[in-house]
Amino acid sequence: MKRMSIIVPCYNEEESVPLFYDACTAALSKLPVEAEFWFVDDGSLDHTLLRLKELRERDGRVHYVSFSRNFGKEAGIFAGLEAATGDYLAVMDVDLQDPPALLGQMLAGIEDEGWDCVATRRVTRAGEPRLRSFFARAFYRLINRISKTEVVDGARDFRLMTRKMADAVLSLKEVSRFSKGIFSWVGFRTKWLEYENVKRAAGETKWSFWKLLLYSLDGIIGFSTAPLAIASVMGLVFCLLAFALILFFFIKTLIWGDPVAGFPAMICIILLLGGIQLFCIGILGQYLSKTYLETKRRPLYVAREKE
Ligand code: UDP
Ligand code: MG
Repeated sequence: MKRMSIIVPCYNEEESVPLFYDACTAALSKLPVEAEFWFVDDGSLDHTLLRLKELRERDGRVHYVSFSRNFGKEAGIFAGLEAATGDYLAVMDVDLQDPPALLGQMLAGIEDEGWDCVATRRVTRAGEPRLRSFFARAFYRLINRISKTEVVDGARDFRLMTRKMADAVLSLKEVSRFSKGIFSWVGFRTKWLEYENVKRAAGETKWSFWKLLLYSLDGIIGFSTAPLAIASVMGLVFCLLAFALILFFFIKTLIWGDPVAGFPAMICIILLLGGIQLFCIGILGQYLSKTYLETKRRPLYVAREKE
C-alpha cells in the first residue's frame, strides 16, 4: 500500500487542531493508503503544541515539528515536506478550509489518471472582505502579466503531489518563498480541482492585509524581474521628451525671441523627475534587499522539537 503524508502548518490553532484531526482521519480511513500526519507548530503562543502532543500519544501516525519561533507558513510547508516520508504528500490548512473529503479525488487523479499533482483553486471568495478580493484579483492579473511562471488565480496551497514533485520543491532553497510560484515553477502535470470557498472551522485568519501585501511583493520580486526594467523604460521616455522640448524651445526662441518663463513648470518637473528617480531606486532596493537576505543562506526555520 502507498503511503500518504499530510503536512499541516499550524500557528495558534489550538481549537482547530482536534477538529482537523477528526475530520481528516475520517476521510483518510476510506482511502486505500497508509497515512501519516506531519503537523508543524509554527511558534504558536497558545496550546497548539500541547494539542499535538496529545494527538501523538493517541495516534502513532501523528508527528510534529515545533519551531523555535514563528517563521511563517512557507517555512512550515518546507519543514513538513522535508520531514514527511510518504509516496504522496498533501499540504493542508488546519482550519478545515481545505476539505479533507477532496483527498479521495486527489488520490484518484494521481493513481488512476496519472497526474503528478492535483491542486485546488477556489472559484469564489465569499466571506472575504471586498477590498481584499479586489487587491487579490489585481495581484494575480499583474503577476501573470510580468512573470513567466503562471500563478493561478484563487490557487490554494492545498494539493497532493508525488514524491518526485515534492523533492523538486525541496530542491529550491530560496529563503523568501512564494509557494504558489514555486509549485508552478517546478513544472510537472497538475490537475486543478475547483471548489467554493469554505469558512474557517474555528479561530481567526492569521493574515492581515499588510502581511498579504508584503507576501504579494515576495511573489512579484521572486518570480519577475520586470519591475527592474521600469527605470530603463521611463528613463528612455523622459530623454526623448526632453530632446523634443529642447528643440521646441530652441526654435521658439530663435523665431519669436521671447524668453521661457517657467519657475512653476521647473518646480513641477524637478518634483516629477525626483519622484520617479526615488521610485526606481526603491525598486532596485527591493531586489537588493532580497539578494542580501538570500546571500546570508540562513536556514528556513529552527526546530525546537521534532517527533
Ligand atoms: N499559518 C502558519 N504560520 C503563520 C500563519 C499561518 O503556519 O505564520 C498556518 C495557519 O495555522 C493555517 C494556514 O497557515 O493552517 C493558513 O492560515 P490562515 O487560515 O490564517 O490563512 P487564510 O486561510 O485566511 O488565507
Ligand atoms: Mg484559512
